[in-house]
Amino acid sequence: MYPGSFDPITLGHDDIVRRSLKLVDRLIVTVAYTATQVKQPLFEVRERVELLERVYADEPRVEVSSFQGLLVDFARSMSAPIIIRGLRAVSDFEYEFQMALMNRSLWPEIEVIFMAPASQYTFLSSSLVREVARLGGRVADFVPPVVLDALIERVGPSVAGE
Ligand code: ADP
Repeated sequence: MYPGSFDPITLGHDDIVRRSLKLVDRLIVTVAYTATQVKQPLFEVRERVELLERVYADEPRVEVSSFQGLLVDFARSMSAPIIIRGLRAVSDFEYEFQMALMNRSLWPEIEVIFMAPASQYTFLSSSLVREVARLGGRVADFVPPVVLDALIERVGPSVAGE
């Protein structure tokens, strides 16, 4: 299971998804309703799920969902005891490590795998994409084409750099 806020999915997330598919034969990409770090959401959870579904329409090994409440409860209900998380920099590490150990104490069978993205995505976050897009900057190199279309519709053509 690959949980996150995905507001919106970026090429950094996609890089982690593609790498994860080398390790697992089925991946549930799931949008957390309760993600605390998204203070000013750009897309509703339902829209984020729709975008993910479109990005992975041709990838039968990826299933898209959303969940409320504790990740471990959802993971258990889906019989998905492996959690994938991306690590961009040391700054991600402390929070991720705390969360991994807390999740393991909530469900001892869980294993958390941290994946490193391609180096060009280590600076990329959804929050940065949201901020740049809202201010009218070009984000075409950082998001999948379906997300770029949705951003054009939401904030205007400047996000495509045109
Ligand atoms: P963010 O809003 O910071 O992009 P999410 O909650 O959507 O974060 O991220 C879900 C997971 O994907 C987290 O484990 C996060 O560290 C990871 N992630 C996000 N962006 C990237 C990236 N560019 N490269 C690698 N992992 C990433």
